[in-house]
Amino acid sequence: MSQVFLPGAVLGVLGGGQLGRMFALAARRMGYRVTVFAPDDDTPAGQIADREIRAEYEDLAAVEQFAREVDVVTFEFENIPAATAEAAARHVTVRPAGTLLHQTQDRAREKRALTERGLPVATFAIVTTDADLEPAARTVGCPAILKSTAWGYDGRGQRRVMRVEDVAAQWRTLDSQPCVLERFVPFVAELSVVGARGSDGEIVLYEPFQNRHRDHILDVTVCPAPISSRVREDALAIAREVLTRFEVVGVLCVELFLLADDSLVVNEFAPRPHNSGHVTIDAHACSQFEQQVRAVCGLPLGSTERTVPAAAMVNLLGDLWDGGTPNWTAALADPRVRLHLYGKQDARSGRKMGHLSVADTTAEAAERRALDARSALSGSRKAPAWTGR
Ligand code: AMP
Repeated sequence: MSQVFLPGAVLGVLGGGQLGRMFALAARRMGYRVTVFAPDDDTPAGQIADREIRAEYEDLAAVEQFAREVDVVTFEFENIPAATAEAAARHVTVRPAGTLLHQTQDRAREKRALTERGLPVATFAIVTTDADLEPAARTVGCPAILKSTAWGYDGRGQRRVMRVEDVAAQWRTLDSQPCVLERFVPFVAELSVVGARGSDGEIVLYEPFQNRHRDHILDVTVCPAPISSRVREDALAIAREVLTRFEVVGVLCVELFLLADDSLVVNEFAPRPHNSGHVTIDAHACSQFEQQVRAVCGLPLGSTERTVPAAAMVNLLGDLWDGGTPNWTAALADPRVRLHLYGKQDARSGRKMGHLSVADTTAEAAERRALDARSALSGSRKAPAWTGR
Protein backbone atom coordinates (compact mmCIF):
# COMPACT_ATOMS: atom_id res chain seq x y z
CA MET A 1 0.00 0.00 0.00
CA SER A 2 1.37 3.41 -0.85
CA GLN A 3 2.22 5.58 2.11
CA VAL A 4 0.49 8.91 2.69
CA PHE A 5 2.07 11.71 4.69
CA LEU A 6 -0.55 14.22 5.79
CA PRO A 7 -0.03 17.89 6.67
CA GLY A 8 1.84 18.07 9.98
CA ALA A 9 4.36 15.44 8.83
CA VAL A 10 8.04 16.37 8.64
CA LEU A 11 9.44 16.46 5.11
CA GLY A 12 13.21 16.02 4.83
CA VAL A 13 15.01 17.71 1.93
CA LEU A 14 18.50 16.73 0.83
CA GLY A 15 20.05 19.90 -0.59
CA GLY A 16 19.77 23.53 0.39
CA GLY A 17 19.36 25.42 -2.91
CA GLN A 18 16.53 27.39 -4.45
CA LEU A 19 14.57 24.34 -5.54
CA GLY A 20 14.46 23.25 -1.90
CA ARG A 21 13.50 26.78 -0.90
CA MET A 22 10.48 26.89 -3.21
CA PHE A 23 9.56 23.33 -2.18
CA ALA A 24 9.73 24.39 1.49
CA LEU A 25 7.57 27.45 0.81
CA ALA A 26 4.90 25.25 -0.76
CA ALA A 27 5.17 22.61 1.98
CA ARG A 28 4.94 25.07 4.85
CA ARG A 29 1.93 26.77 3.28
CA MET A 30 0.27 23.36 3.25
CA GLY A 31 1.02 22.80 6.94
CA TYR A 32 4.03 20.53 6.68
CA ARG A 33 7.22 20.86 8.66
CA VAL A 34 10.46 20.89 6.72
CA THR A 35 13.98 19.83 7.68
CA VAL A 36 16.78 20.65 5.26
CA PHE A 37 20.06 18.73 5.17
CA ALA A 38 22.92 20.55 3.41
CA PRO A 39 26.64 21.12 3.82
CA ASP A 40 26.19 24.87 4.50
CA ASP A 41 24.39 27.15 6.93
CA ASP A 42 21.77 29.72 6.07
CA THR A 43 21.02 28.05 2.74
CA PRO A 44 18.18 29.27 0.48
CA ALA A 45 16.11 26.26 1.58
CA GLY A 46 17.27 26.35 5.19
CA GLN A 47 16.06 29.94 5.56
CA ILE A 48 12.50 28.74 4.94
CA ALA A 49 12.67 25.35 6.67
CA ASP A 50 11.76 24.68 10.30
CA ARG A 51 15.17 23.10 10.77
CA GLU A 52 18.45 23.14 8.94
CA ILE A 53 21.01 20.41 9.54
CA ARG A 54 24.51 21.26 8.45
CA ALA A 55 26.60 18.21 7.55
CA GLU A 56 28.43 16.78 4.56
CA TYR A 57 26.49 14.42 2.28
CA GLU A 58 29.27 11.89 2.86
CA ASP A 59 28.63 11.93 6.63
CA LEU A 60 26.33 8.92 6.51
CA ALA A 61 25.84 8.83 10.30
CA ALA A 62 24.45 12.39 10.11
CA VAL A 63 22.29 11.40 7.12
CA GLU A 64 20.84 8.44 9.06
CA GLN A 65 20.16 10.62 12.08
CA PHE A 66 18.38 13.14 9.81
CA ALA A 67 16.35 10.33 8.22
CA ARG A 68 15.23 9.05 11.62
CA GLU A 69 13.88 12.48 12.50
CA VAL A 70 11.72 13.03 9.40
CA ASP A 71 8.74 11.19 7.89
CA VAL A 72 9.78 11.14 4.24
CA VAL A 73 12.82 12.36 2.29
CA THR A 74 13.10 14.05 -1.07
CA PHE A 75 16.01 15.84 -2.75
CA GLU A 76 16.35 19.11 -4.54
CA PHE A 77 19.82 18.60 -5.94
CA GLU A 78 20.68 15.77 -8.31
CA ASN A 79 24.29 15.45 -7.40
CA ILE A 80 23.57 14.00 -3.99
CA PRO A 81 25.81 10.91 -3.73
CA ALA A 82 23.87 7.67 -4.26
CA ALA A 83 25.20 6.41 -0.89
CA THR A 84 23.52 9.37 0.84
CA ALA A 85 20.11 8.50 -0.60
CA GLU A 86 20.69 4.84 0.30
CA ALA A 87 21.58 5.74 3.90
CA ALA A 88 18.38 7.77 4.21
CA ALA A 89 16.34 4.95 2.63
CA ARG A 90 17.43 2.58 5.42
CA HIS A 91 15.16 4.52 7.76
CA VAL A 92 12.52 6.31 5.76
CA THR A 93 10.79 6.46 2.37
CA VAL A 94 12.81 8.41 -0.21
CA ARG A 95 10.87 9.89 -3.15
CA PRO A 96 11.85 9.81 -5.94
CA ALA A 97 13.92 6.66 -5.33
CA GLY A 98 17.67 7.12 -5.01
CA THR A 99 18.24 4.74 -7.95
CA LEU A 100 16.89 7.45 -10.22
CA LEU A 101 19.55 9.84 -8.91
CA HIS A 102 22.16 7.27 -9.70
CA GLN A 103 20.89 7.10 -13.29
CA THR A 104 20.67 10.83 -13.98
CA GLN A 105 23.84 12.01 -12.28
CA ASP A 106 25.94 10.25 -14.88
CA ARG A 107 25.29 11.31 -18.46
CA ALA A 108 26.44 8.00 -19.93
CA ARG A 109 24.08 6.00 -17.71
CA GLU A 110 21.27 8.46 -18.45
CA LYS A 111 21.74 8.25 -22.23
CA ARG A 112 21.88 4.46 -22.13
CA ALA A 113 18.78 4.28 -19.96
CA LEU A 114 16.87 6.54 -22.35
CA THR A 115 18.01 4.57 -25.40
CA GLU A 116 17.09 1.24 -23.79
CA ARG A 117 13.59 2.57 -23.24
CA GLY A 118 13.27 3.58 -26.87
CA LEU A 119 13.36 7.33 -26.24
CA PRO A 120 14.92 9.54 -28.96
CA VAL A 121 18.35 10.97 -28.08
CA ALA A 122 21.14 12.57 -30.16
CA THR A 123 23.65 10.09 -31.61
CA PHE A 124 26.29 9.58 -28.95
CA ALA A 125 29.36 7.58 -27.99
CA ILE A 126 31.08 7.09 -24.65
CA VAL A 127 34.68 8.13 -24.28
CA THR A 128 36.76 6.80 -21.40
CA THR A 129 40.24 6.33 -22.90
CA ASP A 130 42.41 7.94 -25.56
CA ALA A 131 41.70 5.03 -27.87
CA ASP A 132 37.96 5.79 -27.80
CA LEU A 133 38.33 9.33 -29.07
CA GLU A 134 38.75 9.09 -32.79
CA PRO A 135 36.32 6.20 -33.38
CA ALA A 136 33.76 8.06 -31.26
CA ALA A 137 34.19 11.26 -33.26
CA ARG A 138 33.91 9.33 -36.55
CA THR A 139 30.78 7.47 -35.44
CA VAL A 140 29.03 10.50 -34.01
CA GLY A 141 30.17 13.00 -36.64
CA CYS A 142 31.00 16.67 -36.22
CA PRO A 143 30.09 19.19 -35.03
CA ALA A 144 29.66 17.43 -31.72
CA ILE A 145 29.62 18.26 -28.04
CA LEU A 146 31.85 16.57 -25.54
CA LYS A 147 30.21 16.44 -22.11
CA SER A 148 31.80 15.09 -18.94
CA THR A 149 29.64 12.24 -17.64
CA ALA A 150 29.74 13.43 -14.02
CA TRP A 151 28.51 16.54 -12.24
CA GLY A 152 27.38 18.24 -15.40
CA TYR A 153 24.73 20.88 -15.27
CA ASP A 154 24.22 24.33 -16.75
CA GLY A 155 26.76 23.51 -19.44
CA ARG A 156 29.61 22.83 -17.01
CA GLY A 157 32.15 20.40 -18.39
CA GLN A 158 31.12 20.80 -22.05
CA ARG A 159 33.22 21.47 -25.15
CA ARG A 160 32.30 21.90 -28.80
CA VAL A 161 34.19 19.64 -31.20
CA MET A 162 34.15 21.06 -34.71
CA ARG A 163 36.47 18.53 -36.41
CA VAL A 164 37.44 14.92 -35.67
CA GLU A 165 41.10 16.05 -35.30
CA ASP A 166 40.11 18.38 -32.42
CA VAL A 167 38.48 15.83 -30.17
CA ALA A 168 41.66 14.82 -28.29
CA ALA A 169 42.64 18.41 -27.49
CA GLN A 170 39.13 19.21 -26.28
CA TRP A 171 39.07 16.07 -24.14
CA ARG A 172 42.27 17.14 -22.44
CA THR A 173 40.74 20.51 -21.51
CA LEU A 174 38.17 18.43 -19.60
CA ASP A 175 41.05 16.69 -17.73
CA SER A 176 40.49 13.52 -19.82
CA GLN A 177 37.47 12.61 -17.68
CA PRO A 178 34.94 10.02 -18.90
CA CYS A 179 32.71 11.84 -21.38
CA VAL A 180 29.76 11.45 -23.67
CA LEU A 181 30.41 12.70 -27.20
CA GLU A 182 27.10 13.81 -28.61
CA ARG A 183 26.15 14.94 -32.08
CA PHE A 184 25.34 18.65 -32.19
CA VAL A 185 21.57 18.92 -32.67
CA PRO A 186 20.56 21.73 -35.05
CA PHE A 187 17.47 22.53 -33.05
CA VAL A 188 14.98 25.25 -33.95
CA ALA A 189 13.76 25.50 -30.37
CA GLU A 190 14.33 24.05 -26.93
CA LEU A 191 11.31 22.80 -25.03
CA SER A 192 10.78 21.27 -21.63
CA VAL A 193 7.95 19.31 -20.12
CA VAL A 194 7.51 19.23 -16.36
CA GLY A 195 5.26 16.59 -14.90
CA ALA A 196 4.56 14.66 -11.76
CA ARG A 197 3.75 11.05 -11.00
CA GLY A 198 2.08 9.93 -7.80
CA SER A 199 2.79 6.77 -5.85
CA ASP A 200 -0.39 5.26 -7.38
CA GLY A 201 0.88 5.91 -10.93
CA GLU A 202 -1.28 8.97 -11.58
CA ILE A 203 0.48 11.38 -13.96
CA VAL A 204 -0.08 15.10 -14.55
CA LEU A 205 1.83 17.16 -17.10
CA TYR A 206 2.22 20.88 -17.62
CA GLU A 207 2.04 22.16 -21.18
CA PRO A 208 5.46 22.27 -22.91
CA PHE A 209 7.50 25.38 -22.16
CA GLN A 210 9.85 27.01 -24.63
CA ASN A 211 13.29 27.83 -23.28
CA ARG A 212 16.22 29.88 -24.41
CA HIS A 213 19.68 29.46 -22.94
CA ARG A 214 22.57 31.86 -22.72
CA ASP A 215 26.05 30.44 -22.14
CA HIS A 216 24.36 27.04 -21.56
CA ILE A 217 22.32 28.44 -18.64
CA LEU A 218 18.56 28.81 -18.89
CA ASP A 219 17.77 32.46 -19.58
CA VAL A 220 14.10 32.74 -20.58
CA THR A 221 11.07 30.43 -20.42
CA VAL A 222 7.75 31.21 -22.08
CA CYS A 223 4.37 29.54 -22.17
CA PRO A 224 2.45 28.60 -24.13
CA ALA A 225 5.26 27.44 -26.40
CA PRO A 226 4.56 28.46 -30.03
CA ILE A 227 4.36 24.87 -31.33
CA SER A 228 1.88 22.83 -33.33
CA SER A 229 -0.58 20.59 -31.53
CA ARG A 230 1.27 17.56 -32.91
CA VAL A 231 4.58 18.66 -31.40
CA ARG A 232 2.76 19.41 -28.16
CA GLU A 233 1.25 15.92 -28.06
CA ASP A 234 4.59 14.30 -28.94
CA ALA A 235 6.41 16.25 -26.20
CA LEU A 236 3.77 15.29 -23.63
CA ALA A 237 3.91 11.65 -24.73
CA ILE A 238 7.70 11.57 -24.25
CA ALA A 239 7.42 13.06 -20.75
CA ARG A 240 4.67 10.60 -19.84
CA GLU A 241 6.84 7.76 -21.10
CA VAL A 242 9.84 8.90 -19.04
CA LEU A 243 7.75 9.29 -15.87
CA THR A 244 6.22 5.85 -16.37
CA ARG A 245 9.26 3.91 -17.53
CA PHE A 246 11.48 5.25 -14.75
CA GLU A 247 8.67 4.76 -12.19
CA VAL A 248 9.20 8.25 -10.82
CA VAL A 249 7.32 9.25 -7.69
CA GLY A 250 7.75 13.01 -7.66
CA VAL A 251 8.31 15.75 -10.19
CA LEU A 252 10.42 15.34 -13.30
CA CYS A 253 11.45 17.55 -16.20
CA VAL A 254 12.35 16.38 -19.67
CA GLU A 255 14.42 18.79 -21.78
CA LEU A 256 13.79 18.45 -25.50
CA PHE A 257 15.24 19.75 -28.74
CA LEU A 258 12.73 20.54 -31.48
CA LEU A 259 14.08 19.98 -35.00
CA ALA A 260 13.04 21.69 -38.24
CA ASP A 261 11.04 18.60 -39.30
CA ASP A 262 9.03 18.82 -36.04
CA SER A 263 10.70 15.77 -34.53
CA LEU A 264 11.89 15.83 -30.92
CA VAL A 265 15.11 14.65 -29.29
CA VAL A 266 15.53 14.25 -25.53
CA ASN A 267 18.50 16.25 -24.24
CA GLU A 268 18.26 15.11 -20.63
CA PHE A 269 15.86 14.70 -17.77
CA ALA A 270 15.95 15.76 -14.15
CA PRO A 271 13.98 13.94 -11.44
CA ARG A 272 13.03 17.12 -9.60
CA PRO A 273 11.38 20.49 -10.18
CA HIS A 274 13.15 22.42 -12.92
CA ASN A 275 14.15 26.00 -13.55
CA SER A 276 11.80 26.20 -16.55
CA GLY A 277 8.94 25.12 -14.26
CA HIS A 278 9.35 28.19 -12.03
CA VAL A 279 6.82 29.84 -14.30
CA THR A 280 4.18 27.52 -12.79
CA ILE A 281 4.32 29.37 -9.45
CA ASP A 282 2.58 32.41 -10.89
CA ALA A 283 0.97 31.07 -14.07
CA HIS A 284 -0.57 27.69 -13.21
CA ALA A 285 -3.20 26.46 -10.79
CA CYS A 286 -0.77 24.29 -8.83
CA SER A 287 2.97 24.99 -8.95
CA GLN A 288 5.59 22.35 -9.68
CA PHE A 289 6.69 22.68 -6.03
CA GLU A 290 3.25 22.00 -4.60
CA GLN A 291 3.05 19.15 -7.09
CA GLN A 292 6.27 17.73 -5.62
CA VAL A 293 4.88 18.01 -2.10
CA ARG A 294 1.72 16.20 -3.19
CA ALA A 295 3.56 13.45 -5.06
CA VAL A 296 6.12 12.86 -2.31
CA CYS A 297 3.37 12.82 0.34
CA GLY A 298 1.08 10.48 -1.59
CA LEU A 299 -1.68 13.10 -1.97
CA PRO A 300 -3.76 13.52 -5.13
CA LEU A 301 -1.87 15.62 -7.70
CA GLY A 302 -2.92 19.21 -8.47
CA SER A 303 -4.22 20.90 -11.61
CA THR A 304 -1.60 21.82 -14.22
CA GLU A 305 -3.97 24.25 -15.91
CA ARG A 306 -2.54 27.65 -16.88
CA THR A 307 -4.50 30.40 -15.14
CA VAL A 308 -3.25 33.31 -17.29
CA PRO A 309 -3.24 33.62 -21.10
CA ALA A 310 0.57 33.54 -21.28
CA ALA A 311 3.62 34.03 -19.10
CA ALA A 312 7.38 34.41 -19.16
CA MET A 313 10.15 33.79 -16.66
CA VAL A 314 13.63 35.28 -16.81
CA ASN A 315 16.51 34.23 -14.60
CA LEU A 316 18.47 36.72 -12.52
CA LEU A 317 22.14 35.76 -12.43
CA GLY A 318 24.79 37.09 -10.08
CA ASP A 319 26.24 39.25 -12.89
CA LEU A 320 23.32 41.65 -12.37
CA TRP A 321 24.98 42.67 -9.10
CA ASP A 322 28.19 43.77 -10.86
CA GLY A 323 27.24 47.43 -10.66
CA GLY A 324 25.90 47.20 -7.10
CA THR A 325 22.42 46.33 -5.81
CA PRO A 326 20.03 45.87 -8.74
CA ASN A 327 17.38 48.53 -9.13
CA TRP A 328 14.44 46.55 -7.71
CA THR A 329 12.13 49.57 -7.70
CA ALA A 330 12.63 50.09 -11.43
CA ALA A 331 11.87 46.44 -12.24
CA LEU A 332 8.78 46.37 -10.05
CA ALA A 333 7.46 49.58 -11.61
CA ASP A 334 5.60 47.21 -13.95
CA PRO A 335 2.88 45.97 -11.60
CA ARG A 336 2.66 42.62 -13.40
CA VAL A 337 6.26 41.74 -12.61
CA ARG A 338 6.71 39.23 -9.81
CA LEU A 339 10.05 38.98 -8.07
CA HIS A 340 11.48 35.75 -6.64
CA LEU A 341 14.82 35.97 -4.85
CA TYR A 342 16.52 32.97 -3.34
CA GLY A 343 18.20 34.54 -0.31
CA LYS A 344 21.77 34.01 -1.57
CA GLN A 345 24.28 36.44 -0.07
CA ASP A 346 27.11 36.00 -2.52
CA ALA A 347 26.25 37.19 -6.07
CA ARG A 348 28.81 35.32 -8.16
CA SER A 349 28.87 35.47 -11.96
CA GLY A 350 26.54 32.85 -13.47
CA ARG A 351 24.96 32.03 -10.09
CA LYS A 352 21.16 31.81 -10.11
CA MET A 353 20.06 34.46 -7.59
CA GLY A 354 16.37 34.68 -8.45
CA HIS A 355 13.89 35.10 -11.27
CA LEU A 356 11.15 37.39 -12.52
CA SER A 357 7.86 36.23 -13.94
CA VAL A 358 5.26 38.17 -15.87
CA ALA A 359 1.82 37.28 -17.23
CA ASP A 360 0.35 38.92 -20.31
CA THR A 361 -2.01 38.25 -23.18
CA THR A 362 0.63 36.61 -25.38
CA ALA A 363 3.94 34.86 -24.75
CA GLU A 364 5.78 37.53 -26.79
CA ALA A 365 4.28 40.36 -24.74
CA ALA A 366 5.05 38.57 -21.47
CA GLU A 367 8.61 37.93 -22.59
CA ARG A 368 9.11 41.55 -23.62
CA ARG A 369 7.89 42.80 -20.25
CA ALA A 370 10.05 40.32 -18.37
CA LEU A 371 13.15 41.31 -20.37
CA ASP A 372 12.35 45.00 -19.93
CA ALA A 373 12.01 44.52 -16.19
CA ARG A 374 15.32 42.68 -16.05
CA SER A 375 17.00 45.39 -18.13
CA ALA A 376 15.63 47.98 -15.73
CA LEU A 377 17.54 46.24 -12.94
CA SER A 378 20.86 47.20 -14.46
CA GLY A 379 20.00 49.77 -17.08
CA SER A 380 20.98 47.66 -20.14
CA ARG A 381 18.33 46.87 -22.72
CA LYS A 382 19.32 43.84 -24.75
CA ALA A 383 16.74 41.37 -26.05
CA PRO A 384 18.53 38.43 -27.75
CA ALA A 385 16.86 36.57 -30.62
CA TRP A 386 15.09 33.23 -30.14
CA THR A 387 16.29 29.88 -31.60
CA GLY A 388 19.74 28.27 -31.75
CA ARG A 389 22.91 29.99 -30.62
P1 AMP B 1 22.95 20.40 -20.96
O1 AMP B 1 23.85 20.77 -19.83
O2 AMP B 1 23.26 19.10 -21.58
O3 AMP B 1 21.50 20.57 -20.63
O4 AMP B 1 23.23 21.51 -22.10
C1 AMP B 1 22.96 22.87 -21.88
C2 AMP B 1 22.57 23.51 -23.19
O5 AMP B 1 23.62 23.32 -24.17
C3 AMP B 1 21.33 22.92 -23.84
O6 AMP B 1 20.16 23.41 -23.28
C4 AMP B 1 21.54 23.35 -25.28
O7 AMP B 1 21.27 24.72 -25.45
C5 AMP B 1 23.04 23.13 -25.46
N1 AMP B 1 23.28 21.75 -25.93
C6 AMP B 1 23.54 20.67 -25.16
N2 AMP B 1 23.67 19.54 -25.92
C7 AMP B 1 23.48 19.92 -27.19
C8 AMP B 1 23.49 19.22 -28.45
N3 AMP B 1 23.74 17.90 -28.54
N4 AMP B 1 23.25 19.93 -29.57
C9 AMP B 1 23.01 21.27 -29.51
N5 AMP B 1 23.02 21.99 -28.38
C10 AMP B 1 23.24 21.33 -27.22
